Amino acid sequence: MPHPDTWLCVRPQGLYCAPADVFIDPVVPVPRAVITHAHADHARPGHGAVLATAETLAIMETRMGSGRAGATQQALAPGEVLTLGGVKLWLQPAGHVLGSAQVAMEWQGSRAVVSGDYKRAADPTCAPFVPIACDVFVTEATFALPIFVHPPAEMEIRKLLDSVALFAGRTHVVGCYALGKAQRLIALLRAGGWDRPIYLHGALMPLCETYARLGVALGDLRPATVADSSALAGAIVLAPPAAIADRWARRLSDPVTVMASGWMRVRQRAKARGVELPLVISDHADWPELLQTIEQVAAPEIWVTHGAEDALIHEVAKRGIRGRALRLLGYGEDVQEGSAEFRQQDAAESG
Ligand SMILES: [Zn+2]
Ligand SMILES: [Zn+2]
Repeated sequence: MPHPDTWLCVRPQGLYCAPADVFIDPVVPVPRAVITHAHADHARPGHGAVLATAETLAIMETRMGSGRAGATQQALAPGEVLTLGGVKLWLQPAGHVLGSAQVAMEWQGSRAVVSGDYKRAADPTCAPFVPIACDVFVTEATFALPIFVHPPAEMEIRKLLDSVALFAGRTHVVGCYALGKAQRLIALLRAGGWDRPIYLHGALMPLCETYARLGVALGDLRPATVADSSALAGAIVLAPPAAIADRWARRLSDPVTVMASGWMRVRQRAKARGVELPLVISDHADWPELLQTIEQVAAPEIWVTHGAEDALIHEVAKRGIRGRALRLLGYGEDVQEGSAEFRQQDAAESG
């Protein structure tokens, strides 16, 4: 049985499956790409043939504009097996954002699974992560430190609703990323009993519309028009993280600044960003979820794509699992949670 490192390797473009002649989440345009999910650091424009879930293809189209999400596209349903150059390839949900998938590949009896970004906590806006037994599990490690234990998201949403009840005349402005986080917050607010309109910064509207079109019910969403800020008193407004501290937000009526991110676990970061109400809500696995997942897939070896790889590799070694840092370049260049840019921005602000 050939070890996966003989047929799955790191190239400058990204992770490459040689017998299938396909890259997974390549960072530059390539002839053939499998895309795990539509966050901009994983899904780049300009590829030839693109293979992904139907939802990921739809979201890529919303983000990039029609025709830029690959010259040709093929949608793969969860569990549907495709054979490429003798490699059996299939996708299974990753629980990260709508459409997010792990890529499973099997060649000559050896199996590798590339997680993409993932989480294990329930998310009403996407299918849950499915563990797949494998020989090599390629995992992210965004929150791979023991301090990162995400509380239940429902509890964090309750804090927001309590604050809205307490400061009824103020506008709660919640910083959140446009793909995944915004829609999850909306769905959680609905589940928490908030049936009033939720207002959106213009940058968040297109992806919410795409989610709704793909069957994720988000309720009454309206554009947040700061020109009429008095109408937003007592309302919940969602905006990109960069907007919550800028002039746009200051024009709202007496805003309460809220931010939803796994990084809010680090209180100095919240303080440095001027966040009054930090909500620890993440779409990445926390430390216990990473370890739980590694145990479930039962791979004797893990490869770590990006994040705090050293801590994770050290921890799994204690359990007899071999770890390897892939040190893939090019991830985290977009303003996603967990991105280098976000961390740098944070470091700059707290420094
Ligand atoms: Zn992602
Ligand atoms: Zn990522």
